[in-house]
Parts: sequence; structure tokens; C-alpha cells
Amino acid sequence: MRRFLFLILSFIVLTASPALARPLTVLISIDGFRADYLERGVTPNMSAMATLGVSAAMRPSFPSKTFPNHYALITGLRPDRNGIVENNMEDPAIPGVSFRMSNHDAVVDRRWWDQGEPLWVSAEKVGIRSATMFWPGSEAAVHGVRPGLWLPFDQSKSAEARVDQVLTWADLPADQRPQFITLYFDDVDTMGHTYGPESAQVNAAATRVDAAIGRLDAGLKARGLEANIVVVADHGMAAISEDRQLFIEDLVPAGTFRTLGTGAFITLAPLPGQETLVDKALVGHHPHLTCWRRGQFPARFHYGHNPRVAPIFCLPETGWTIYSRVRKPGSWEKGTHGFDPAARDMAAVFVASGPAFKSGVRLRTFDNVDVYPLVARLAGIPAQPSDGSLAPLRSALKPKMP
Ligand code: AMP
Ligand code: ZN
Ligand code: ZN
Repeated sequence: MRRFLFLILSFIVLTASPALARPLTVLISIDGFRADYLERGVTPNMSAMATLGVSAAMRPSFPSKTFPNHYALITGLRPDRNGIVENNMEDPAIPGVSFRMSNHDAVVDRRWWDQGEPLWVSAEKVGIRSATMFWPGSEAAVHGVRPGLWLPFDQSKSAEARVDQVLTWADLPADQRPQFITLYFDDVDTMGHTYGPESAQVNAAATRVDAAIGRLDAGLKARGLEANIVVVADHGMAAISEDRQLFIEDLVPAGTFRTLGTGAFITLAPLPGQETLVDKALVGHHPHLTCWRRGQFPARFHYGHNPRVAPIFCLPETGWTIYSRVRKPGSWEKGTHGFDPAARDMAAVFVASGPAFKSGVRLRTFDNVDVYPLVARLAGIPAQPSDGSLAPLRSALKPKMP
């Protein structure tokens, strides 16, 4: 009887008192926020989080693009295993469709996403409420399950409006309030592409996003809500130049292949009957460029076994770009990503603070898939088998995590 009363009392206390319930978990992605931007003195809120909590430079998964890495962060699976192998891809099992970020029908089609299980799906399955203030994959009913609360992607929604939406969700009564929330900002990546990583515009965008994070932190504190906040980026940003451009037609004749994506790398498929010619011309090393066949990438990329990977993939040296003369580069770009994840310029920021974290910890570089077991643990979501490990992050957690 006493045990029963104790259980009832604990239940009442835990549901009625936000201070005693599990803290919220907020996973924030700042697209294209290179690790070293944190040292520029333009992000006071993130710097304070790093001082009070944990920071690191994080290695993205290959290829260092937006959709593959957001899905790696939220599923713990590298792109080869999570199915989002590129921003632009095809699947022999989904004929006639090209997956592109701008193809809304594809972005909401669960068949592209079903190879992984995002954390919000695992959360909803066990009755933990989740909310996504944007995240690649959040508009599809992955495994038939959607985030409890979500919005269709709208790039024009301001950083403040995104934060205010999260705070509105935080205002819900305790039994409806999401326990796990994602929040996404694209401003820094856009400025990095347009003006380059060393530009004043990137610093100004970093300051804007940092202010939005400060607004979130203050808003949660004003509501008396404890939160573990984890800030990540999907990749960094490298300066590019018209002096460092390659053209695929200088290596293999036009009319023998079709390209899927160009820029920081080129993915292509030989046209029927041209397989041997294209293979001979491309596979191997060239000045500033290396090309691989599907299935024959260096092991450290953990890439190339998924049938969605293009038959041939050519990766330039970091800072060089490759295009097709048929689809000429936009001369506007001063920065891009997609390069070797081991390159310093591709390193992504990681900052975390909250009741679960120790203070002032600087971690060694870890793989972005390791964020998955951390966030699952913080939010109490059962983690699926993944490519990630909590080991590189364990020393950042308090022994008795609240
Ligand atoms: P990238 O080309 O790899 O630099 O991708 C960055 C771009 O991805 C952003 O500028 C957004 O326009 C786009 N993006 C980010 N999240 C989403 C989403 N959930 N749905 C559609 N597009 C997105
Ligand atoms: Zn990105
Ligand atoms: Zn980008």
C-alpha cells in the first residue's frame, strides 16, 4: 500500500512540477556553421553555452551536404545506411523520380526516408511527444509516423518566428508539451555560399542566429523550464574560386554520361553502352580530383554500398569545384561544402549546455553520428541500433544525469 501511495505521489509531482520532470531536449541545427566560427567573437550566447557547458568540432558524414548529414544526426546512421545518400539522388526501386531538396513531392515521400528511423519517430512510438521546427525528413510520415507537432519547410520564416513557435509549444500544458524539439536555421549556410566563409555577411548571420538562440534560452528560463540544448551544424564551408574550377568534359567526352549533381563533387551515370569508356576515363586520380566507382570508396567514407549512390563519384581537393560545361556554375557562389569530411573547413560546430552537462568541457573531434545516442539519452528516447557511440561524449555528461 505504501509503495502504491509513493508511486501515485511521484506521478503527481512529476507531471505537475516542470522543475522535477525530465528537462526538455532541444536539438538545434545551424546549417553550415563551421566549427571555427565560434571563435570569431560574434556569437556571445553560443560562447556562453560553451563556457558553461560543452563544445567541440564535429566531423560530418560523407558527403558533407545538408540532407545526408541532417538525417545522419537524427538517425545515427551514416548516409550510406540512412538512405539519404545525397541532396540529389535516384533509386532504381523508385523509377522515374529524382530526389531533390526542391522537389516537394519527393521530400514528403516516406520511401526516400524509410531506411532510417528519426528520433521523433522513435519518441512518438513510445509516447514521448516530439516537435520539429524544421528538419529534413520531418515532412514525411517516416515508418508511418510524423512528429507530434511540425510545420512544412518555409525558408522565409524568420529565426525569431521559429524560436517563438518553439516557445509557443513550450507553453502547452505539461501533458501536451513536447519533450523533444528540433529547431533549424539556414541563414549562415546561405550567406556562406553567397559571400564566402570569411565574409562579414557570414559573421552577421552567425550573430543573428546566435541572438535567436539567446531568445530561446531566455524564453525557456522565463517559463521556468529546464532544457538541455544541443547545437550542431551539418557541415562547414570552404571558400571557392573561379580559378579553381574543373570541367568534367575535359576528362570524358560530352554525350557519354549524364550528371546528377555538380559543385563540391560531381555524380554521374554513364549512358547505356558507354560504361567502359566512362569508367576508363574517370576512375582514379586526376589533377585536383579523384573519381571512384560505386562500391569502391575509401573505407573511411563509409559510403558506396547503397544502390542510391551514383555509379561514379568525383571529389575535388577541398576548395576546388567541378562542373559540366552543359550545366555551367552559377558565378555567384563564393563558398560551398560537400568536400572530404576530414578537411578542417568541413568541420561542424557542436555546443551543448543544460543540467545534464558538465561545465567548460572541450571535447576532441567526434563523428556526427555520435550525436544520436547523446540526444536519445537526454530525451529518454529508446535508441535504435546506429553507427554512433556515446563514448566520445560521455566525459561531457554529469555522472548522475538529471
Ligand atoms: P545545401 O544545398 O546542402 O547547402 O542545402 C541548404 C539548403 O537546404 C537550405 O538553404 C534550404 O533551402 C534547404 N533546406 C533545408 N532544410 C530543408 C527542408 N526541410 N526542406 C527543404 N529544403 C530544405
Ligand atoms: Zn547544410
Ligand atoms: Zn549549403
